[in-house]
Amino acid sequence: MDFTLPAELAALREMVRDLAREVVAPRAAELDETGVYPEDIFAAFRDRGLPGLAWPEELGGAGLRDAAGRPVGTLALCLAVEEVARFCSASGLILLLTRLPLMPVWLAGTPEQKERYIGGACRGERRGAFCLTEPEAGSDAAGIRATARRDGDHYVLNGTKIFISGATVADFFTIAAKTDPAAGHRGVSVFVVDRVTPGLSVGKVERKMGVKGVPVAEVVLQDCRVPAAQRLGAENAGFRVVMQTLNAVRPVVAARGLGLAEGALAYAVEYARERRAFGHPIADFQGLRWLMADMATDLEAARWLTYRAATLVDAGRYGREDAHFLSMAKLYATEMANRVASGALQLLGGHGYMKDHPLERFYRDARQLTLVEGTSQIQREIIGRAVAEGFLT
Ligand SMILES: Cc1cc2nc3c(=O)[nH]c(=O)nc-3n(C[C@H](O)[C@H](O)[C@H](O)COP(=O)(O)OP(=O)(O)OC[C@H]3O[C@@H](n4cnc5c(N)ncnc54)[C@H](O)[C@@H]3O)c2cc1C
Repeated sequence: MDFTLPAELAALREMVRDLAREVVAPRAAELDETGVYPEDIFAAFRDRGLPGLAWPEELGGAGLRDAAGRPVGTLALCLAVEEVARFCSASGLILLLTRLPLMPVWLAGTPEQKERYIGGACRGERRGAFCLTEPEAGSDAAGIRATARRDGDHYVLNGTKIFISGATVADFFTIAAKTDPAAGHRGVSVFVVDRVTPGLSVGKVERKMGVKGVPVAEVVLQDCRVPAAQRLGAENAGFRVVMQTLNAVRPVVAARGLGLAEGALAYAVEYARERRAFGHPIADFQGLRWLMADMATDLEAARWLTYRAATLVDAGRYGREDAHFLSMAKLYATEMANRVASGALQLLGGHGYMKDHPLERFYRDARQLTLVEGTSQIQREIIGRAVAEGFLT
């Protein structure tokens, strides 16, 4: 067992760290204030090839491998997300969205679909959004009501998707809909739909608590005619694609939690070294040292769960039999991010509550992480199922 990063990944982390400091950090507070998607930050990511980090070379991606020739793209993406999220959670999400909406294409798409959508994303020409959640179905993904009715060589899609991250800037949408509404999860199919398709529109943009630089919006499908060639994989075989997509992206969400916690803790520790009370820097007080110790330990535990989970995904292990390891990383790292964001704010006392410091933003941004891509309760359901089925024994 070797806990050192391969040299290419260590170099990548340095490169993204510099980029995050120079390009992302100065814009983070402003994105939070304005809620405007940062095209300049996306362009900086594109110029460094970051949208292709997790994808193979033949599709235009980085095709990263370790010394033994094993793919390490998911781990690379996690490291990049972690570095960026130290300063700005929304910018970390922009990188995550180079993976989430494309995973169904990777899992079930034809070579042409992969070249068009994944290739386009690697070149920074196309951005996607992943459309699963509906007003009546979030955690219960099999309960979606959007329909896709076959009509000759087309499907006609109807329904409303909500809370779709990146919808306002997306060029394409991967959409789960029922091709057999009576068949529960066995009636789900997945489609990739271009934004320009008549009948697809981006609706209400939500006013939300944090992660404001990536708007979240409704995607409305009204008699949206989609060529059958835009279906991803077999008809009615989409539920597995959706579940595997979520499993495979869980380490990347976890990495958003790692980065956020690192940024919050680093800021608070620096403050605690400078701030004085009762004649001492507050970092000298045992009450705060133990708080810092707990936060640092929590972070380190989450980091290794996350890297290990990313390594599993890189080895193609994101099916049901390994899902609990991916859920553990997502559950632990996102809950940890909330604990650390709260503890770090506490270190600043009343100053932490004010917008002169970034910790109230970190605190609000952290709150998103335990809700998206499977709430903490759903992660516990997945882990609990595996425990009950005997994975520990
Ligand atoms: C900022 C943001 C961005 C998002 N981006 C996207 C996106 O890009 N694409 C997309 O498709 N969706 C997106 N979502 C939606 C997100 O995935 C859902 O909100 C989430 O899955 C929960 O669904 P829900 O909100 O309908 O809550 P519900 O499913 O109604 O859950 C309500 C509560 O019940 C709990 N619960 C539900 N079932 C169980 C159970 N079996 N056991 C125990 N507790 C349970 C939940 O944990 C939660 O606490 C986003 C959400 C947010 C907030």
